[in-house]
Amino acid sequence: MSPVRFIVLAVLFYLLYRLLFGRKKDNLPPKPEVHKVESPAQDVLVQDPVCKTYIPKGQALREKKDGETYYFCSEECRKRFLDQD
Ligand SMILES: [Zn+2]
Repeated sequence: MSPVRFIVLAVLFYLLYRLLFGRKKDNLPPKPEVHKVESPAQDVLVQDPVCKTYIPKGQALREKKDGETYYFCSEECRKRFLDQD
């Protein structure tokens, strides 16, 4: 079998395969595989810079300052942190 024929056959098989099985996959959204790596579990512990308590990231209050994100256990700590300067 010549290489060209082999390629033609391969393409034909591919098209046939897509006709038979491709439709189901087309309805599904693309799998966000990278997403898993980018978003770690929400219960990662972060430290409150004011009272040094560790809080789950999902429950912590966030404050961005100088390009860095800080996490706080409560509104009180957040205010205290902002009043420091
Ligand atoms: Zn705190």
